[in-house]
Amino acid sequence: MRRKKELEEQVVQKFPYRCPYCDQPITYDQFNLKVGENEIKCPFCKKKYIKVVSDESPPPQSSPVPAII
Ligand SMILES: [Zn+2]
Repeated sequence: MRRKKELEEQVVQKFPYRCPYCDQPITYDQFNLKVGENEIKCPFCKKKYIKVVSDESPPPQSSPVPAII
């Protein structure tokens, strides 16, 4: 007997980000994300936070925000 196991190739998706406040998964399709900082308002807890989108191919000078340690 051959056991047929369906091998579903799992599509590697971007893992849904979760709200840092209420931990609800948020789909960013509803937001028009741009490269840089995006203000996201969580649809669940209505809190705002900043999501930073990094460009796939960053320019040579890609440090607009000084790192404060
Ligand atoms: Zn939230």
